[in-house]
Amino acid sequence: MKILLAEDDFTTRSMLAAILKKWGYDPVVCEDGHAAWNVLQKPEAPRLVLLDWNMPGLEGPEVCRRLRKKETANPSYVILLTGRGEKNDIVQGLEAGANDYISKPYDNAELLARIRVGQRMLELQSSLLATQAALAHQATHDALTGIFNRRAILDQLARELARALRQSVRLSVAMCDIDHFKEINDRFGHQAGDEVLVALTRCLQANLREYDYVGRYGGEEFLVIATGSTAQGDDGLYERLRQQVAALEVKTMTGNVAITVSIGTAPGTGKSTVDALLAAADAALYQAKAAGRNRVARSQDEKIGKDESGIG
Ligand code: GH3
Ligand code: MG
Ligand code: MG
Ligand code: MG
Repeated sequence: MKILLAEDDFTTRSMLAAILKKWGYDPVVCEDGHAAWNVLQKPEAPRLVLLDWNMPGLEGPEVCRRLRKKETANPSYVILLTGRGEKNDIVQGLEAGANDYISKPYDNAELLARIRVGQRMLELQSSLLATQAALAHQATHDALTGIFNRRAILDQLARELARALRQSVRLSVAMCDIDHFKEINDRFGHQAGDEVLVALTRCLQANLREYDYVGRYGGEEFLVIATGSTAQGDDGLYERLRQQVAALEVKTMTGNVAITVSIGTAPGTGKSTVDALLAAADAALYQAKAAGRNRVARSQDEKIGKDESGIG
């Protein structure tokens, strides 16, 4: 583990660097506060920091203060090295953001013990952050397919509508539903059904542009958001999706499965609401199903997707 060591006194610095190495740490050595601050700006800067209090230029507490001003989710752990004179000011050092301090002349065993506390705190912090990130991912992604779940794709739609309003652009949504999926499950098994869902997801992803979004809206229903396109562009996109899905042959453990999807689309602008767009796409999907499946139907609702500017 890297430790930033900032100490202006040559002898103390050399001894500290040597003992840190002996303990298995990797000291990044600085001769003053400015040098320490420069190192701490770097993305791969050490997280454990040993700062002398009194140094020319920037003193330890000031480096600490700057560090705390800048840090966010994953703060470093700072131990101040205090001389006799600074012992009365410990409160000031801690208030500057130091986690701990050790007085000079320091005792090796105590120094090592305090460094280990810092290391444990940093390891704990990292594992909490990793857990937090994993939970955030779980809360927004579908476990089977790895794409946005219902809540996340709806949040994305709300954001895209807000952006469409700011930039006066159009967007569209499409509800894609696998045809007769129940029969596929019944014939090939639920496991094969899952594989089909994953294969369909990959197919949709492969045929969307990077600024489009897809999420799993429900069991075998997927919601696509296409942004910044024209009405004609959308028709092309959704027809292409339909064709690509129809051309898929999903190799599962229980046999090769061919699928089709029905797609209901609805155009929108920044003035549309999430609910109105979903209702319109849903109604269009119902039309596509009723008309025989494996087809794209556009919303017949003239109110959505039109505004005074004539976009849509
Ligand atoms: P339609 O053409 O009218 O859409 O017919 P359908 O059979 O696709 O529609 P229905 O709503 O009757 O059935 C949907 C099926 O999707 C039933 C359900 O078991 C299946 N399903 C939903 N989620 C999953 C899943 O995660 N895995 C698998 N294997 N099947 C799922
Ligand atoms: Mg000093
Ligand atoms: Mg369905
Ligand atoms: Mg279906």
